[in-house]
Amino acid sequence: MSKKNPRKLQDKLKVKSSEHGYGLFAKTDFAKDSVIGRIKGKVVSDEKHDPRYVMEMGNDKLLVPKAPFRYLNHSCRPNCELFDWEDEPPNPKTGVKDLYLGAIRKIKSGAELTIDYSWPASFAIPCHCGSKKCRGFIVSEEERHLVA
Ligand SMILES: [Zn+2]
Repeated sequence: MSKKNPRKLQDKLKVKSSEHGYGLFAKTDFAKDSVIGRIKGKVVSDEKHDPRYVMEMGNDKLLVPKAPFRYLNHSCRPNCELFDWEDEPPNPKTGVKDLYLGAIRKIKSGAELTIDYSWPASFAIPCHCGSKKCRGFIVSEEERHLVA
């Protein structure tokens, strides 16, 4: 990922309803490898959390994201991914590194931002992302064979 974009989130992103319910949309162009923003939310360590509503942070910690990032939808060919900075120390408040959203492809203003949810097979539901490489279900590549 390249340098951080100093613009405010509300100038870069917009939550609006789409054919899949609410989604997160770009209000500006994002270059490939640019940082879209830090994902704020509640860090929890309870493994009983439903994987559909949390993001993995490593060290058995999970993030329950707040708006606007809680509206990120899934795509089997996403344009964004979650990451942390290799040289950034853990956040002293949570004990784990902060999580960021970055563009893995060039994103045009108006496009919906998506990530690959990679859910376990036990939570898989049919996917309607429409990408050519759609797995047919919202499920991780590794567990796709477990879903009928
Ligand atoms: Zn799909």
